[in-house]
Amino acid sequence: MIKEIEIVCPPGQQDDEVAIKKIAASSLNISQQKISGIKILKRSIDARGRKVVYRMQVQVFIDEIYTPETFTVNYPDVKNGRPVIIVGAGPAGLFAALQCIELGLKPVILERGKDVKQRRRDLANINKQGLVNPESNYCFGEGGAGTYSDGKLYTRSTKRGDVNAVLKTFVAHGATEDILVDARPHIGTNKLPQIITSIKESILNAGGEVRFDTRVTALLVEFGKIAGVQAASGEKFGSDAVILATGHSARDIFEMLHQQNILIEAKPFALGVRIEHPQEIIDQAQYHCEHRGPDLPPSYYNLVEQVDNRGVFSFCMCPGGIIAPCATEPNEIVVNGWSPSKRNNPFANSGTVVQVNLDDVAGNENDPLKMLRFQQHIEQLAYVAGGGHLVAPGQRMVDFVENRMSATLPVNSYLPGTKSVALKEVLPGWINARLQKALSAFGRKMKGYYTNEAILVGVESRTSSPVKIPRDKETLQHPQVAGLFPCGEGAGYAGGIISAAIDGINCAIAASKI
Ligand SMILES: Cc1cc2nc3c(=O)[nH]c(=O)nc-3n(C[C@H](O)[C@H](O)[C@H](O)COP(=O)(O)OP(=O)(O)OC[C@H]3O[C@@H](n4cnc5c(N)ncnc54)[C@H](O)[C@@H]3O)c2cc1C
Repeated sequence: MIKEIEIVCPPGQQDDEVAIKKIAASSLNISQQKISGIKILKRSIDARGRKVVYRMQVQVFIDEIYTPETFTVNYPDVKNGRPVIIVGAGPAGLFAALQCIELGLKPVILERGKDVKQRRRDLANINKQGLVNPESNYCFGEGGAGTYSDGKLYTRSTKRGDVNAVLKTFVAHGATEDILVDARPHIGTNKLPQIITSIKESILNAGGEVRFDTRVTALLVEFGKIAGVQAASGEKFGSDAVILATGHSARDIFEMLHQQNILIEAKPFALGVRIEHPQEIIDQAQYHCEHRGPDLPPSYYNLVEQVDNRGVFSFCMCPGGIIAPCATEPNEIVVNGWSPSKRNNPFANSGTVVQVNLDDVAGNENDPLKMLRFQQHIEQLAYVAGGGHLVAPGQRMVDFVENRMSATLPVNSYLPGTKSVALKEVLPGWINARLQKALSAFGRKMKGYYTNEAILVGVESRTSSPVKIPRDKETLQHPQVAGLFPCGEGAGYAGGIISAAIDGINCAIAASKI
């Protein structure tokens, strides 16, 4: 017999099979010996009460043989299959490739950046010397922005596809099975590179192709149909299906489409700063205790406030994390955040941003690149304000709200360094003012949040794509170019690893139908 029940257990026992069996036996009023296995279906932390507990949905196997699920992959050989060109090896491109293989198509991935190993050297140059390689950085290279991301895997886009199937694919390529049950699944930056490499190996073993250092510079279009793409080297790649999954930072791709008279549209995004607190402050507020102790993970927050008819919100919260320099050009500053799988860094950071609508930004309303230019301008202002070498402008939280320069900045995790700057020199006045109001309001919602121990680091600007590449809702093809599938975050159809992966899968399915 299999029974599904909810159990509650104290922190420290959430992974302990013996302890969980004991709780389940007592809850079902049966002897522990009758339980042959326990399968955890869902697991979350409940910090609402005085005592923090884990809540778990479990299947209890009673006098029944329990065989744990195994996760392996077995892809068909597609060496001689019909080629589908995939531009970009981010989560969208990689999952599009895996789906192509499952459908008997041969994916040919063209990626401007380097493989995971070589990319690491370029990241070291960014962090230690403040030097950005425009082809290989936190956004460009094998695995795209996902490889050195935080690897949080929760998403709101559950209706767009099978989230569980994506999570299982990650597990089959080396992620821990915890991501299948945790309410807030997380892989961590230290683990992602091996997983991404393993996905690439699956693609290559099945007969797909992956070409690094191959920047696409033109689409080949004949009579309204895609015929292939051309790379910077001049090499041409032919196919009647091209999945364009180049991410939100490939500004040259948006320029290229515009120059080729292929329709793109300006798109709203969000802009602000990354805020970092000592992790302890967040733990004390969320777990209502002096010290978190060894049995609870570093805590997170999620804050939102309407200020003067505009949403101001925290996102991509990284407990135990690092603020990362994520620019793709040498003369701009872009910050984001990541954390290792153990989340054992002493800081907690999150993007804290204000929604930017189309009519907030001056310029020709018909210019599809106006939001992109605005985003770029703010990133360049941040670079100048920091004084170069990716030193980022920073200000203490209370100083920022009270319009005071910070005499000193707190020790923080941003490796290229921070410089005390009045952030109003970088942010537009209407964003600055809304952030100021929101931070005081967040402080009223969360004890300890509003403090000068927290630093604001500018700028968090690559929250989503500032451009949309239109596509037909049913066929997922561009309205003007048959066989062109705008895909993933850069095209405006995803906002994170899982949704990008799902969009990649959907585009591959659509490509198989032409
Ligand atoms: C530091 C950091 C932390 C993050 N943390 C999280 C998180 O915890 N959870 C989450 O869900 N999301 C997170 N994200 C966001 C997530 O990584 C992206 O949403 C996701 O990677 C988007 O996938 P994509 O495939 O659409 O695009 P991308 O990952 O951006 O991939 C696009 C790829 O296209 C390539 N490319 C661009 N132009 C060309 C060209 N002309 N020719 C050939 N190739 C090209 C790029 O090099 C890149 O590899 C984080 C991002 C960063 C930077």
